[in-house]
Amino acid sequence: MHGLMQDWPLTVDKILDHAKNWHGDREIVSRSVEGPIVRTTYGQVHDRAKRVSNALKVLGIQPGDRVATLAWNTSRHIEAWYGIMGMGAVCHTLNPRLFAEQLCYIVNHAEDQVIFTDLTFLPILTELQAQMPCVKHVIVLTDEAHMAGVTLPGALCYETLLAQNSTDCVWGGFDENSAAALCYTSGTTGNPKGVLYSHRSNFLHTLVTMGKDVMGISATDTVLPVVPMFHANAWGLAFSCAAVGAKLVNPGQKLDGASIYELLESEEVTFSAAVPTVWQMLLTHMRENNLKPSTLKRVVIGGSAVPEALVRAFRDDYGVSVTHAWGMTETSPLGTLATPTGAIAKMDPEAQLRFTLKQGRPPVGIELKLENDAGERLPHDGTTFGRLMVKGPFVVGEYFKGDGGEILDDEGFFDTGDVATIDDYGFMQITDRAKDVIKSGGEWISTIEIENIAVGHEKAFLCAVIGAAHPKWDERPVLLVKLMPGAEATKEEFLGFLEGKIAKWWTPDDVLFVDDIPLGATGKIDKKLIRQRMADYVLPTAKAKATA
Ligand code: AMP
Repeated sequence: MHGLMQDWPLTVDKILDHAKNWHGDREIVSRSVEGPIVRTTYGQVHDRAKRVSNALKVLGIQPGDRVATLAWNTSRHIEAWYGIMGMGAVCHTLNPRLFAEQLCYIVNHAEDQVIFTDLTFLPILTELQAQMPCVKHVIVLTDEAHMAGVTLPGALCYETLLAQNSTDCVWGGFDENSAAALCYTSGTTGNPKGVLYSHRSNFLHTLVTMGKDVMGISATDTVLPVVPMFHANAWGLAFSCAAVGAKLVNPGQKLDGASIYELLESEEVTFSAAVPTVWQMLLTHMRENNLKPSTLKRVVIGGSAVPEALVRAFRDDYGVSVTHAWGMTETSPLGTLATPTGAIAKMDPEAQLRFTLKQGRPPVGIELKLENDAGERLPHDGTTFGRLMVKGPFVVGEYFKGDGGEILDDEGFFDTGDVATIDDYGFMQITDRAKDVIKSGGEWISTIEIENIAVGHEKAFLCAVIGAAHPKWDERPVLLVKLMPGAEATKEEFLGFLEGKIAKWWTPDDVLFVDDIPLGATGKIDKKLIRQRMADYVLPTAKAKATA
C-alpha cells in the first residue's frame, strides 16, 4: 500500500526558494575577488541565480549538461551553483589547487561545456584552453570594468550576461534523482574519480546536517565557511545556510589568519568550518597579535584529524567549542561528528576531550561497519582496527561513467579506504588511510595518532609519519617535523616527548627535521609525495642491521 502524502520532489532549487521566501533580506557577505566586501541577500541571490539559468539556456545548455565552476567562495559562485542546478544542469566544482594536467583530465572526463571562473584562474584556463575542446564558453565572474584586462579568447562577462537575461525562469520540475552536482576525488592514487550527487542526495544531506548534533546551525547564526565550495560542497553549508536562513560570510580567496580574523570580527561570525591547517594559521595570527574572537561560538574541523593542541587552544584560551567531523567527497561529505551523547556530556571536560579527538558518531542516514581484509565484521571495542565501510542515501553508489567498477560490497557498503576503530560509545576514530598505515611485524601502527601527539610539542609546526622499509619488521615509523619558525630541536627531544604517550613499539625509528611538509589539493599532508621524496632514505636501524 502506498502512503498518501504529497509528492514533493527533493530538488535543491527549493532550498533557495525557501531562503528567498522566508529569509529574503538575510545577508550574504563576500570578500570579492576584486577586493572590496560585497553585500547581498538571499532574495537578490535568488533573482540573479535565475538570470544565470536563463543565460545558460541561451548558451545552449540543456538539463544534464555539465557546467563547471572554478571559483572561490563568493556570492557570485553561489548564484552560479543554484542557477546551474535549478535548471537541471550539473554543477561541477573544480578544485583550482589540482595540478594542471589533473584539472584538464577532469574537465574532459566530465565533458564540461561551460566554465564559470574567477579572474584569479584565467592564467590556468588560458594555458589549458586548447586541451579542453569540450568547453564551449568561459564566463568570468566579474563586471565589465574588470574584463578590460582579460585576454582569454571568447571569454564572457558574468555581469553582462546577467543584465541581458531576465529573472523569469521555472526551476525544478524534474525527478529528484536527477544529477545536481559533480565533484572529483582528490585522486591521491590513480586518476580522480567523479562523485555525482543527485538533488535528492543533496537535499537529504542538507536536512541531516541541520540537526543539532550535526552542524546545528540556525537562523540566528552567522556562518563563515572557510572550507571551499570546491572541497566536497563546502561541507554542505551552501545548502544548509540557505535552508535555515543563516547569514553567510564568504571569504573569497583570502584564507590567511589575518583575513579570516578580520571577517570573523567585522561580520560577527558565530560558526565556522575549515580544515585544521586553516585554524592553525588563525591561532598563530591571534597569538602573535594578542587577539581574541569576540562572537565565534563553534567551529567544525574536519578533512584531517584535529590535533589536541588545537582543541585545547580554542576551548581554553578562547571559549570556542570544537566539533570534530569526518567525511569524504563520496559521503556528500559529512559522515560522522564528535558531538557528545548524553553519557559523554556528563563526563568532566578532560574525559570529554578524549571523545572530541575522535572522528565521532554517525547521524541518522549513515550506517557504518568495520571489517578485516577477509570481509568479516570486527567488534566495536575501541581497539580493533578495521576497514571503515559506509552506507546511506547520500553515499556514493558508483563513480561517474562507472570508473573503478563495482564499488559496493554484498551488503551495499562503500569501502572508505580509511582504517578506524569504533568504541563502545559508538565513536569512530580514524587511525589511518589504508595505504598509509604502517605494518610492523604483522601489527598496525597508526601514523595519524603519532602525528597528532608529536604536533602538540611546542616547537612543532607540522608533523608527518610515514613507514620506511625495515628488513626485520617490514616497516618502521619515521617522524618528519617541520619546526616553528626559528625553533631548533633534537631527535631525542621529540622521542622523549612521545614516551609514555604511545606504545613503546610505536616509537619512531628516526626523526627528521624538514623545511617543508607538502600539502595536497585539499589541505591534507601529501604522503605520496613525501614517500617519493624519501625514495632513497634508509632507516638507521635498517643500516645497523645491514652492517651487523
Ligand atoms: P576528501 O574526499 O578529499 O574530503 O578526503 C576524504 C578523506 O579525508 C577521508 O577518507 C579521510 O581519510 C580524510 N579525513 C576526512 N576527515 C578526517 C578527519 N576528521 N580525521 C582524519 N581524516 C579525515
